[in-house]
Amino acid sequence: MAIDQVDVTYDVAIIGAGAAGLATAIFAARARPRLRIALLDGAAKPGAKILVAGGGRCNVTNRCVRPADFNGSSRNAIKKVLAALPVPKTIAWFAEMGVTLHEEEHGKLFPDSNQARTVLDALLAEVRRHGAKLLTAHRVTAIGPATTSGGASPTADEARFHVHVRVEGGDAETVIRARRVVLATGGMSLPKTGSDGAGYELARRLGHSLVPTVPALVPLVLDGDFHAGLSGVAQDVELTVTPEGGKPVRIAGALLWTHFGVSGPAVLDASRHWLRARQERRPCTITANLLPGDNAASAEAKLLDLVARQPRTILRNAMSAWLPARVVDALLARLRIDGRVPLAHLSKDVRRRWLGALLAWPLPVRDSRGYVHAEVTAGGIPLDEVDTATMQSKRCPGLYFVGEILDVDGRIGGFNFQWAWSSGYVAGHALARL
Ligand SMILES: Cc1cc2nc3c(=O)[nH]c(=O)nc-3n(C[C@H](O)[C@H](O)[C@H](O)COP(=O)(O)OP(=O)(O)OC[C@H]3O[C@@H](n4cnc5c(N)ncnc54)[C@H](O)[C@@H]3O)c2cc1C
Repeated sequence: MAIDQVDVTYDVAIIGAGAAGLATAIFAARARPRLRIALLDGAAKPGAKILVAGGGRCNVTNRCVRPADFNGSSRNAIKKVLAALPVPKTIAWFAEMGVTLHEEEHGKLFPDSNQARTVLDALLAEVRRHGAKLLTAHRVTAIGPATTSGGASPTADEARFHVHVRVEGGDAETVIRARRVVLATGGMSLPKTGSDGAGYELARRLGHSLVPTVPALVPLVLDGDFHAGLSGVAQDVELTVTPEGGKPVRIAGALLWTHFGVSGPAVLDASRHWLRARQERRPCTITANLLPGDNAASAEAKLLDLVARQPRTILRNAMSAWLPARVVDALLARLRIDGRVPLAHLSKDVRRRWLGALLAWPLPVRDSRGYVHAEVTAGGIPLDEVDTATMQSKRCPGLYFVGEILDVDGRIGGFNFQWAWSSGYVAGHALARL
């Protein structure tokens, strides 16, 4: 294959023009206007994930972002990065770009336009305004060290890297020289957007290791047929994920029954814990407390109170005030409990069996829907291989990491974008000090 040398050396080549790459370009260019920045993306139209995010409305961040909202190799390191661009500064940054935000339930912040397109257009316009070069349909296939004429190590002003690029529609490979390279290639979720894990291999060849990846924020597939009859029903639950030999993880929120299993915010948040346990070959259970906030004692007290107040109401009708009626019917059938029995005639044994089922209904998880349906990827480049004051690699001088390629995954609610903006801010400012 022919190789074209592009006769320009960029100060910074950012690989990946998703949320993190765009933020890095903007912050670097703002802080150092004459920096020559190339932003390369394999996709013809970058920013696909921004457009699909939050159901097409883009949940940009959250009113309250804490390190505890994230999983990954080091909460301390995550805390440092988040502190560099906290939420109020993020809101102000978006406002400067013409995107005002409003708050919705659970602290989620969305653009006032309620259109993800507004967010992407503002980021792209800001990149252009600062003169960073956006090269779309430019897929990076390899990154190697630049060779100097005498074979000596490059000086600070010389290119350190040769970035090999395959341009869509062309038959030649192009090589771009860059003093610094930023890997902003994302994870493996929704691979059709261009984030297919290629960045991990680029990093590996530059000396990095990888925390094994699993899909995260992904619906779960259940065995059996209990779920199928409830497809479309949503309810609040508290899930307990218990990996063998590990600490149980408790997650409260909405669960949605589907034809394949379960989805909804609580399930999406739980998924990475189940998948990580499976990857580590540790048996793991998930149970749903269908009476979130209650335990055995409080649930029993509530039911006894109901018995005293409404002795003639039949169990099925009484319980339909606590849970969706379709769920009540499915549970009664599965437990072979007669729902027509008046509360006054409920035996102690049936009462205990019923409450036991409501407080810890087992979800027989078989699998997840995989990366194709996952919102993010858990795992990635370990944070201890990166200096979180600059996002520069500790293993390969001149190489930086931002966004989802790192071993950081947030829960649902705008946290993953906040990680992209904050890590982009740290890297952008460090690159501006070149
Ligand atoms: C359906 C869905 C909904 C979501 N909703 C939300 C939400 O509302 N709020 C939230 O906080 N998070 C949400 N997320 C997660 C969020 O979108 C991601 O965490 C975030 O986009 C990650 O940004 P990134 O820049 O690190 O990676 P990405 O957005 O994945 O961008 C990586 C870019 O790198 C490019 N690339 C990859 N390899 C190469 C290569 N070799 N050469 C050149 N280019 C390459 C890709 O084409 C891509 O454009 C959602 C995700 C999905 C899938």
